[in-house]
Amino acid sequence: MANITYKTRDGSEWEPKYLTQINDELCIGCGRCFKVCGHGVLEMKGVNEDGELCDPYDEDEEITRKVMVVSSEGKCIGCEACETVCGTNAQTHAAVSA
Ligand code: SF4
Ligand code: SF4
Repeated sequence: MANITYKTRDGSEWEPKYLTQINDELCIGCGRCFKVCGHGVLEMKGVNEDGELCDPYDEDEEITRKVMVVSSEGKCIGCEACETVCGTNAQTHAAVSA
């Protein structure tokens, strides 16, 4: 099976690499990937004292740190802009086979 490819405007071949995972041990919750993604794929979460994901703005929670999660994987267009700005190598991207 070959990976799915598309054409850029000038006809060059382009192989999207979709965001599939963010390693929550490497992510420092800096938000840079969220700022560059124009497709609503990502969401910031808090991590509470029990290590559970929660609303990062919930004042009833004891937020120990923040992490980014892939909340709408299916909206990703595979542009890899988020990976370009990530300084901790927390993200995994993958092509899709047809
Ligand atoms: S690859 Fe592009 S569309 Fe997908 S999450 Fe990253 S910035 Fe958003
Ligand atoms: S850019 Fe990297 S470290 Fe920053 S929130 Fe996104 S995945 Fe986490």
